[in-house]
Amino acid sequence: MLELDVREFRRMLERKRKDLLSTSWSKEDIAIESAADEIDRLQHQLSREVAIQSLDHTSKLLKSVQAALGRIEDDIYGVCLRCEEPISEKRLKAIPWASHCIDCQEVIDHHEAFSEKDHGRFGFAA
Ligand SMILES: [Zn+2]
Repeated sequence: MLELDVREFRRMLERKRKDLLSTSWSKEDIAIESAADEIDRLQHQLSREVAIQSLDHTSKLLKSVQAALGRIEDDIYGVCLRCEEPISEKRLKAIPWASHCIDCQEVIDHHEAFSEKDHGRFGFAA
């Protein structure tokens, strides 16, 4: 297992969830808080931008955050859901709700991008 400080990520995720919930209900709640550190500030800024751009996106993000909190409860936080390798701490600090390592995320993103235009490209045909 990773030597991650899970409590730190739980704190970040719970704050993120609170942010997302408040921005989901009312844009009036979007306010700049004086943040304790740079990561918090950036995350808060990100959550504001996301909320302004798209509430649909916000609800998807909220699901990701809640799923990540669930993984903390299940003691599998920080492990890639695809290859089951540890997700780098750097990546988790940038995206605490990340469910895949960078390598797998790239494969998934590419697969989704290609499968729309060129279905079967990543199939198992000989
Ligand atoms: Zn992976």
